[in-house]
Amino acid sequence: MNGFLSEKFSSLVPYVPGEQPKERKFVKLNTNESPYPPSPKALKKAKEAAENVKLYSDPECLKLRKALAARFGVNKDNVICTNGSDEVLNFAFAAFCDEKRPAVFCDVTYGFYTVFADFNRVPKTVIPLKSDLGVDVDRLCVTPGTLFIANPNAPTGIALGSDEIKRLVESDEKRVVVIDEAYVDFGAESCVGMVWDHPNLLVTQTFSKSRSMAGARLGFGIGSEELISALETLRYSTNPYNVNSVTLAMGEGALEDEDYTGKNCAVIAENREFLIRELKKLGFFVTDSRANFVFCRHEKLSGEEVYSGLRERGVLVRHFGAERIKDFNRITVGTKEECGVLLAALEEMTGGKKQ
Ligand code: PMP
Repeated sequence: MNGFLSEKFSSLVPYVPGEQPKERKFVKLNTNESPYPPSPKALKKAKEAAENVKLYSDPECLKLRKALAARFGVNKDNVICTNGSDEVLNFAFAAFCDEKRPAVFCDVTYGFYTVFADFNRVPKTVIPLKSDLGVDVDRLCVTPGTLFIANPNAPTGIALGSDEIKRLVESDEKRVVVIDEAYVDFGAESCVGMVWDHPNLLVTQTFSKSRSMAGARLGFGIGSEELISALETLRYSTNPYNVNSVTLAMGEGALEDEDYTGKNCAVIAENREFLIRELKKLGFFVTDSRANFVFCRHEKLSGEEVYSGLRERGVLVRHFGAERIKDFNRITVGTKEECGVLLAALEEMTGGKKQ
């Protein structure tokens, strides 16, 4: 109980970010960061921009918005830039939900959704995943409110196809549908192309994962001018300089080097498929992930045992306490070498391959 905290936030339970250990060198596979450095073009632009930080950053983020618009085939007024995609998501909860429009999301999904709903004091409707851990599209289509869907979903990694996204977006064209594509570049289908025909669709993406810029904090949203201008109202009402000038420049550099991003994503996707095959040989059930992580449960060891056994062996993964997924761990796909270290540790813990 904090006597200084406003009563309206007294029951707020904050999001718990994945551990960022300082004391010991772990093979760090717990927060879905990229194992690769940012593009050299991004680094060069960042260094140049650092010379000029005595000035405020461009509140319109104009150069970056134009570059994103060109990259995604939309206009600059269809794009908003934010401090990580967490910020655009938070704005979306604030802008598009209220007493009459609850936030609707899945029981197993990105943990921040529930925090954003509570922070903005909007009602929540939570829809369970199906028994195969897939998103229940039929049920979401008939549930009133503003939809928030991570695609691929986290922490399962399972992706919906664009026909299913279309069904969700068209289920009620008067409600906003937010598709969080934080992990889309690793092998799922983006629905950005649908924003032209669907003014109620907001797509969010990030530079944190595929473009190796998690610490620079850069995210963006793409949608109709009407949706984007609603979000801009909130951005200008909180912090018009939300994206700092070094990060803006870095983002522009990264977009000039989409080949570099594409190659890194292809290697990660290849490593993921290798990891899935090897984990199955060690007795794991593994979901069909399209993201830069795998989600797996061992036939004998509990989720907690896998987590702590790996930790003792210097490998950090993410374990969630929620009842439905407590037997699972989410493991970021790293380099081939990191996958090797992980698999060697698991082999020791599980007694080796079955086949
Ligand atoms: N969406 C999902 C599903 C995520 O897992 C994350 C990363 N934790 C984010 C959004 C936000 O990422 P960022 O703020 O770094 O863009």
